[in-house]
Amino acid sequence: MKCPVCGSGARDIASSDPASLSIRCLVDGDYDLDAEGARALGPLSPSERQGVLSAAIRAKQPGHRPRITLATIIGVRRASEPAGEDVAASLAPLNLERS
Ligand SMILES: [Zn+2]
Repeated sequence: MKCPVCGSGARDIASSDPASLSIRCLVDGDYDLDAEGARALGPLSPSERQGVLSAAIRAKQPGHRPRITLATIIGVRRASEPAGEDVAASLAPLNLERS
């Protein structure tokens, strides 16, 4: 698979949570990504995706991988577009199956 953040070759490593992916990327390291987060990352620019991963890394709990969720992405977009519309409402309906 390709890394959802940078597009490099990456692996989906074992996750105990079936609703999330655990990505191992040579560029970005290990991080978790839930289905909503994966869907919402798609339309973002590469620099926005890196910003989202950076936010997840800053917010991570000790002993856990960074986790990208829809909330992470909304937080980053609100920070970069303080006068923007409701980002959550503008995202496509969520329908991502784990493959
Ligand atoms: Zn990557």
